[in-house]
Amino acid sequence: MLITMNITEISSNNSKMIWKECLKIIKENVPYMTYNTWFLPIKPILLNGQSLKIQVPNNFFIEWIDGHYNTLINKTIHQVIGLEAELVYIISDENDIPEIELRREEPSRHEPVQTAVIEKEIKNDKPEFETYLNQKYTFDNFIKGDGNQLARAAAFAISENPGETSFNPLFIYGGVGLGKTHLIQAIGNKILSNYPHKRVIYLSSDIFTVEFVEAVQANKVNEFSNFYKKMDALIIDDIQFLINKEKTQDLFFNIFNILHQSGKQIILSSDKPPKDLKGLNERLISRFQWGLSADIQPPDYETRFAILKKKSENYGIYLSPDILEYIAINITSNIRELEGCLIKLLANTSLSSKEINLEMAKKTVKEIATDRKVNISIEYITKVVCECMNVEENKVREKNRKQEVVLARQIAMYLSKKLTKSSLKTIGLHFGGRDHSTVIHACNNIEVLSNEDIALKDVLESIRNKIELSVA
Ligand code: ADP
Ligand code: MG
Repeated sequence: MLITMNITEISSNNSKMIWKECLKIIKENVPYMTYNTWFLPIKPILLNGQSLKIQVPNNFFIEWIDGHYNTLINKTIHQVIGLEAELVYIISDENDIPEIELRREEPSRHEPVQTAVIEKEIKNDKPEFETYLNQKYTFDNFIKGDGNQLARAAAFAISENPGETSFNPLFIYGGVGLGKTHLIQAIGNKILSNYPHKRVIYLSSDIFTVEFVEAVQANKVNEFSNFYKKMDALIIDDIQFLINKEKTQDLFFNIFNILHQSGKQIILSSDKPPKDLKGLNERLISRFQWGLSADIQPPDYETRFAILKKKSENYGIYLSPDILEYIAINITSNIRELEGCLIKLLANTSLSSKEINLEMAKKTVKEIATDRKVNISIEYITKVVCECMNVEENKVREKNRKQEVVLARQIAMYLSKKLTKSSLKTIGLHFGGRDHSTVIHACNNIEVLSNEDIALKDVLESIRNKIELSVA
């Protein structure tokens, strides 16, 4: 009996040490509030081999932690305890479990096992699934501005009452890097913190498509669609990737209807408003318009300034108002690029260990403009041009002389010259090995045509914007 108690005590101490190690890792990977709410209250009880027994206040905890952080927890205990590690959850009736009860968990089985605690191993009472939500996207760190006011307000409203407002679906649209993904994930995270038992999933529509194709191949389409039909909130990012994927659209239509009819929340994002999603089935477009469509506009100067200020503070750096002003005036396209600028500035200064001054900010902004050019590839330009002009990509690389193909090819060559640092020779090679003189001819021709033809000038402008924005 004495020996048993000693082992118990050692094991209890070990469990504390081990759990402390686990908490260190968990703390780094979850938001502060989540850590405080869900992980701090956990008490390590006993380590038995690689099995760690932990005590949680109630059933809710098990469901929530298991539902949201299963992967993180598994990774953590594998790292700290070993590959065979497992967590055994116990729920205390109320207060702490009396010591005597813990000892009964010992291998010594002489005493009758009669315990005041309810033991519950994690059960699969709901199928395990990854929410794919990134905890870093919250409402707290989403800065309000004129450009995102309506979208943010609607997003917040539905995260308080998912499925119960008229914003169903909520359709958020806008250009690249303006905060769509941030906002729709913030909704998911907030729903889960308001209603931990709700089933929320986030994914982008291209992942949805890939999963669907896999399901078809594995003969599991029913399972696939039933899985999504059971969600309380379905968040699909970049819905424009469903364009021209008719089978996936049909299935999505079906899932949409079931969820909508049963008052479940649907949240979508796209780079354009529903009516402009050409290549998407009309019946889907009309459903997307049932709820609320809200756009996000590029941030105005004040918002850019506020974002820079907040983000630099988050990074723990002080930027004087003239630096913030300089960056906010010069980087206007989107928020991703503002963030990129801060990170770069931080990297530049930490290498030189100097204080950040206006000169450095100017240098960094300049580098970003250059990066933008380097990052644009001829392939990418060709892809966007062909998409916008409705021409098959391979046609511009072949010897096709159809008028619309020739125009698309010449525009792609012209933009490749303008937006990349590639030589005429390299550009020619990308278009079916054409000669550099062909590229010169194309560039001149587009220059002349766009001066004469306002419509062409507009098309050119919008393609160029699209390319520049997407790599910014
Ligand atoms: P999108 O999905 O529209 O392309 P993201 O949501 O990925 O854009 O946003 C790009 C980056 O800018 C992210 O790091 C995001 O956190 C940040 N961001 C966007 N909008 C805001 C905002 N209003 N406040 C703070 N950060 C923002
Ligand atoms: Mg996005």
